[in-house]
Amino acid sequence: DQVRVSRALLSVSDKTGLVDFARALAARGIDLVSTGGTHKALKEAGLPVTEVADLTGFPEMMDGRVKTLHPAVHGGLLAVRDNPEHQAALAAHGIGAIDLLVVNLYPFEATIGAGRAYDDCIENIDVGGPAMIRAAAKNHRDVAVVTDVSDYATVLDALEAGNGALTTALRRSLAQKAYARTAAYDAAIANWLAGQLDAEEAAPAPFRAFGGSLGQPLRYGENPHQTAAFYRAPGLVRRGVATARQLQGKELSFNNFNDTDAAYECVAEFDPARAAAVAIIKHANPCGVAEGASLREAYERALACDPTSAFGGIVALNRTLDAEAAARIVEIFTEVIIAPDATEEAVAIVAAKKNLRLLLAGGLPDPRAAGETVRTLSGGLLVQGRDSAVVDDMALKVVTQRQPTDSEFADMRFAYRVAKHVKSNAIVYAKDGATVGIGAGQMSRVDSSRIAAWKAAENAQRLGLPETLAKGAAVASDAFFPFADGLLAAAEAGATAVIQPGGSMRDAEVIAAADAAGLAMVFTGVRHFRH
Ligand code: 5GP
Repeated sequence: DQVRVSRALLSVSDKTGLVDFARALAARGIDLVSTGGTHKALKEAGLPVTEVADLTGFPEMMDGRVKTLHPAVHGGLLAVRDNPEHQAALAAHGIGAIDLLVVNLYPFEATIGAGRAYDDCIENIDVGGPAMIRAAAKNHRDVAVVTDVSDYATVLDALEAGNGALTTALRRSLAQKAYARTAAYDAAIANWLAGQLDAEEAAPAPFRAFGGSLGQPLRYGENPHQTAAFYRAPGLVRRGVATARQLQGKELSFNNFNDTDAAYECVAEFDPARAAAVAIIKHANPCGVAEGASLREAYERALACDPTSAFGGIVALNRTLDAEAAARIVEIFTEVIIAPDATEEAVAIVAAKKNLRLLLAGGLPDPRAAGETVRTLSGGLLVQGRDSAVVDDMALKVVTQRQPTDSEFADMRFAYRVAKHVKSNAIVYAKDGATVGIGAGQMSRVDSSRIAAWKAAENAQRLGLPETLAKGAAVASDAFFPFADGLLAAAEAGATAVIQPGGSMRDAEVIAAADAAGLAMVFTGVRHFRH
């Protein structure tokens, strides 16, 4: 019942221990046959090895999906040695018997474990490997099959003990192990797919109403216990995260999608023809936005606004990502970079950070474009036109005695552009084309004012500056100041210019307070609530 091993086929994804094992087989006079990558590894180690393509007469094709699926391989594995008809078939078709099969599979489990994109996981489903394993295991009367790197030593010892032959008992136990492996492998695929189906079912109702199509099932929603999926809107024309190409990095999460969208919409407010601009976003709120002569400078300035919060943030750029900016951005833990495009050098720099997601959108969305935003309520949908108002189009009305200077006007516009993308109540301090303090999402406007002022003061302290960064800054409020207190908080913090929609019952009181504090203030007439 001993089977002499004279030919082995090796096809392994995990190449651990491969060369030593194959060298020991070759030393026993065993002929080696291998698939592309395995062949390359053995060849490089100087071992004599034949390529499977030479056996089949076909090149490996379709990204390796079809390598070993051929009668020259499966005939060699399945032919029963003492069956004359089988032997005649081998001879008639010039097929050589394979006595030892060494296979470990595409790393499907590791791929899903790393949270890779759906298509990546699919590509890591091994087809030819399990087919060969099952064939060899079925024919274990004549063939030994090794599916576990840790069995290499056992097989070598057995070959030594058997003088080049393996026992029935070993072949049978290897076959049992082989079927356990393919069963576990298929179970992992089936379970993963079940999870994907759940995700697809998570949100279909509102999106069927909306006419969307499934873009990508997500591992989970805002929290791990929530199912989620990303849907593409019908007739999607706006450029952004939904249409961007992901060049590298982990699969986007629900929160990544949401935050990256916020980041890109924000940076798109800044005309790339005028200046480079960068927005850094956390939890869908900007924690720093700045313009600069270069993207790197804009990034540095945006980062300076709140470096603590920028950790693990999303970085959006309004121009082609270049090497200088990329090199600086990768120094800080960042979840996602999104830009219209990237230079080859920049792509190579980002590639060093495997998990960092790089999205290229092909262009910027038009902030003035029409469109809808949709939100679900329990049992319904809220649909509205997007906020396509842009401060450049607004008729700014100076309401104070003092006229703003040109640079105050520029800072006010900058601050208002950013305030549009900050959750209400939004207060944004800006100076020289960079935010210096942002207060977001507070239930009272005066609290947002205080937070923004406190950030500006804290930043100055961190940088070792004698004065708060709010000194001489412009401050924007997404909605009117209902009382003078928020405005006074800004004046106390050092702001000299204020931009806000106006329209409060107490506008007169607020304007009087501004005049008393020597502020220049403009009304935009347009509110930028964002909840
Ligand atoms: P290599 O690194 O040698 O190019 O590829 C080895 C891997 O390819 C092994 O994990 C093996 O299971 C797998 N494999 C072998 N033949 C086929 C095939 O025909 N189709 C697919 N999808 N995978 C195969």
